[in-house]
Amino acid sequence: MHIEVRGLNKQFGDFQAVRDVSFDIEKGRLIGLLGPSGGGKTSILRMLAGLEQPSSGDIVFHGKRVNDLPPQERGIGFVFQNYALFKHMTVYDNIAFGLKVKKQSKEAIRERVMTLVELTGLKGFEHRLPHQLSGGQRQRVAFARALAPEPQLLLLDEPFAAIDAKIRSELRTWLKEMIERVGITSIFVTHDQDEAIEVADEIMIINKGRLEQKGSPWDIYKSPQTQFVASFIGESTIVSQVERLKGFEEASAWPGTQALIRPEYIEIGKQSEFRIASATARGTVKHVHFRGSEWMIEVEVGDIKLITYRSLEKDVLKPGDEISVLIHRAYLFNDNDTWIMENK
Ligand code: ATP
Repeated sequence: MHIEVRGLNKQFGDFQAVRDVSFDIEKGRLIGLLGPSGGGKTSILRMLAGLEQPSSGDIVFHGKRVNDLPPQERGIGFVFQNYALFKHMTVYDNIAFGLKVKKQSKEAIRERVMTLVELTGLKGFEHRLPHQLSGGQRQRVAFARALAPEPQLLLLDEPFAAIDAKIRSELRTWLKEMIERVGITSIFVTHDQDEAIEVADEIMIINKGRLEQKGSPWDIYKSPQTQFVASFIGESTIVSQVERLKGFEEASAWPGTQALIRPEYIEIGKQSEFRIASATARGTVKHVHFRGSEWMIEVEVGDIKLITYRSLEKDVLKPGDEISVLIHRAYLFNDNDTWIMENK
């Protein structure tokens, strides 16, 4: 289902939880709503579901304005973080629930439930009660139950939040594959950037009620449009008075500009290794942390601390080592603008 949202606002008393949010979602896309706690993600999801009425703005499904449609008439499936399964009902009855409400025949219900049991890998568990299942299995039941009535849109609110870290990662991959296979337009809320990057076709970054940026995970990582997005996605160091960094002296033309520097754009090594001598600064290694597949290195250039990585094959550095530092690229921000500056 194609979704269109125009100028969506939500006011709770004097507090504005959602501010002028507009977006389009193409049919079959898997969208991650990502942002810090309290940013308005759940409020947006609840308005799409019809569980909350917008203060203003339009919600359009498949060309039709649905603001006044009750939730059960919007063709939506919902998965919550705490499973919300019926505790006294078996897996079979949980999945069948929405179909019974629709008064489908026993045969049709049986066929649909068994298809979903197969699809979600729950065969053999049909007669268990929720407390006899693992967290991951319960979430798969919740997913099957939401899909049973063949909704046009699936909304998932922090679907992995209550699951152990190890199973969570498996379940993410599983969910992505499942959603692709079913081909249903889906939106999930998360405050975990890795989760959004790994699972979503497109991410919408929500902060303080506003949509800061919408795009593929790669686009958002490589071309952040606001300082908030740049610092929320990926690791980085923020430097004020960027003109103090070698190679970035020109930034003195924009007083008050800050720079955000990602670890992969910082090269460290021996002076002789660098092509661009004019942009290479002297630095000192402050800390070295082993991260399993690489070293994380904290370097100090003057009084500016920067974080970067070094592969395991290279000579091991230790605190106090003098090194050369070249910053290849930085994202610059001031009150009016964001832009990229490079040492080439
Ligand atoms: P979280 O990840 O913590 O769930 P979120 O991004 O989903 O955060 P929302 O749950 O949409 O954020 O909440 C946005 C803001 O609106 C919060 O400050 C919250 O306290 C407020 N809020 C949400 N629902 C209500 C309500 N019914 N009445 C008053 N304020 C509310």
